[in-house]
Amino acid sequence: MGPSDVLKRYFGYDAFRPRQREVIDAIVKGEDVMAIMPTGAGKSICFQIPALLFPHGTIIISPLISLMKDQVETLTEQGIPASFVNSTIPYEESIERLRNLYRGKIKLLYMAPEKLEPSYFTQCLAQVPLSMIVIDEAHCVSQWGHDFRPSYRKIKDFIDSLPRRPVVTAFTATATPLVEADMKESLGLEKARVFRTGLDRPNLSFRVIQGAAKEDFILRYVKSHKKESGIIYCATRKAVDTVYDLLRRRGINAGRYHAGMEDEDRRQAQEDFSFDNVTVMVATNAFGMGIDKSNVRYVIHYQMPKSLEAYYQEAGRAGRDGAKSECILLYSGQDAGIQRYLIEQGNQDEDQRKMDYHRLNAMVDYCQTTSCLRNFILAYFGEKVTEPCGHCGNCESGKGRVDITDMAVLVFKTIRSLHERFGASLIADVLHGSHSRTIV
Ligand code: ADP
Ligand code: ZN
Repeated sequence: MGPSDVLKRYFGYDAFRPRQREVIDAIVKGEDVMAIMPTGAGKSICFQIPALLFPHGTIIISPLISLMKDQVETLTEQGIPASFVNSTIPYEESIERLRNLYRGKIKLLYMAPEKLEPSYFTQCLAQVPLSMIVIDEAHCVSQWGHDFRPSYRKIKDFIDSLPRRPVVTAFTATATPLVEADMKESLGLEKARVFRTGLDRPNLSFRVIQGAAKEDFILRYVKSHKKESGIIYCATRKAVDTVYDLLRRRGINAGRYHAGMEDEDRRQAQEDFSFDNVTVMVATNAFGMGIDKSNVRYVIHYQMPKSLEAYYQEAGRAGRDGAKSECILLYSGQDAGIQRYLIEQGNQDEDQRKMDYHRLNAMVDYCQTTSCLRNFILAYFGEKVTEPCGHCGNCESGKGRVDITDMAVLVFKTIRSLHERFGASLIADVLHGSHSRTIV
């Protein structure tokens, strides 16, 4: 069986997406790979197919413990022999799952990075012949990234401790050039083939709305998009409750999701959204990792998030089906204050905090720029930008722009001729040709 047969047989798809085939071929040939591909590009298949083709087992290191069970269940339903180990699995059971990997009863074993701390478990793991190690969400290894996980730092030591080095592959959706370099070094992937597909999502239109009455805006927007699916992201649980109550009171079929809710309620909320029982989900950033809903038509940020990495990931949950979708950020000056507070509360070290501020400043710059919003994002992630997108908020308002150079020149001349001694209202009076006594 070749990659195309596996694609058809296990996943039911007829053709690979751009780049998937190249990534898979490189891995199958035994090359290390680092792939930076946007959310929705189809990264999972890029390592799942080689895992099925390789003779021995594959381990996949992933930080998303809460999703592992679902991911593995989905694979099992597709007939792919997979399992997972993390802190929720009793010790004996996790050793049993390793045995299954050893025997070839399973081909893919998902693992939390904490499991790589040296232990009896890792001793056993080192005895299992492995064809590949996959590092998912690989940006977590970098302290310059937005989701640093210290346990990701152990991955390289673990790989180096193995009697035989398997193929090593790393995947992420977002990486600035700095994070990319750090990932290479920290994971020992200096020689890896790097695949970077463009991060551009041409079907998304970006907009920043500054100083709006946020609640009115949300109500109006949601009402005029009643039949469409959308997500409203808030920075705090309290804001989630406020917006959720507002929508419910106005008879809108909204759901809510944040980490303070019971597991069962969260699962239900996610399911209601997936099956379109609710059209709009009000949520914190806890919502969305791993949701695979393709027809989300809009993502509104009720408050500014902490970084462009977070913003692009969350906004990127719109339009995974490729159809036109809107990403709107409602910005007010207070938002930065909330994020600064959250940074100060987070008890990280000095360097970490500096980076957080650096990212926050870039986020604020995005909210205040007057140039193309899409290009601003792409440039931040180190991509070459060419033409403005033509359909973001700034490109569109630019079309209605008027040239006020002549008027501005006149204003400055007047200020100078009055020796910069008077305030704005007097200058305005002069320019209007007022005959008031002072002016005369
Ligand atoms: P990522 O991890 O890059 O965000 P996923 O691996 O979750 O993306 O894939 C996104 C969606 O695209 C999934 O529903 C997946 O089944 C689908 N998909 C992936 N590859 C293909 C393909 N070649 N043809 C059609 N759909 C695909
Ligand atoms: Zn634009």
